[in-house]
Amino acid sequence: MVPAIGPENWQRVMDISAQHSQIMPALGIHPCFSDGFSSLGELSQWVERYRQQIVAIGECGLDRRFKETMERQKKVFIEQLRLAQQFDLPVTIHSVRMNDEIYALLKQYPLARGGVIHAFQGSLVQAQAFIKLGFKLGIGGAITWPRSGKLREVVATIGPENLVLETDSPDMPIVGQRKGENTPATICFIFEILSSVLVMRPEFLSEVLYKNSRDIFFAS
Ligand SMILES: [Zn+2]
Repeated sequence: MVPAIGPENWQRVMDISAQHSQIMPALGIHPCFSDGFSSLGELSQWVERYRQQIVAIGECGLDRRFKETMERQKKVFIEQLRLAQQFDLPVTIHSVRMNDEIYALLKQYPLARGGVIHAFQGSLVQAQAFIKLGFKLGIGGAITWPRSGKLREVVATIGPENLVLETDSPDMPIVGQRKGENTPATICFIFEILSSVLVMRPEFLSEVLYKNSRDIFFAS
């Protein structure tokens, strides 16, 4: 699943997915590029036009590192939750130190099909709260970092039924990679590490993760 970040790459994401049947696109406005308030109407038109191709609204969310734009981030995020409600789509959410605020908004704007909290970082309580709302947690390169003991613990406790794999490439490098070097190919290494964290045989884990992805992105 390849999410967009904003109007500047919506067309590119749609083109790539049209060329490769195994790529599923999502359209949205990323909070770090959420100058996008003016493009919300445009997003709505794109979602309507491509409703049969896209599998989610995203990437959307809130990022505490950009405090000065928080009010605008919130407005743009809420409008995307409404779009997901209107078009019966899941969302893929970017949350940087905003888990509690995002949880509160998801309670306020419930989504029948849930979504993914991508690159989840947070406590066990936060993880369980999102899962209760029908969300899966995206696990990527962070789980390969030596300092990610807390994340590994949370993941081992909640088990595989509510996880999906991701790379977030070119961001979130795996251990040993430099910033910007990440590619979708690292998914195999992330999978291996996850399999060892969960103490689960790869052939079983791959089935569970594949099912989770389908459950979220393909309505039954
Ligand atoms: Zn993100």
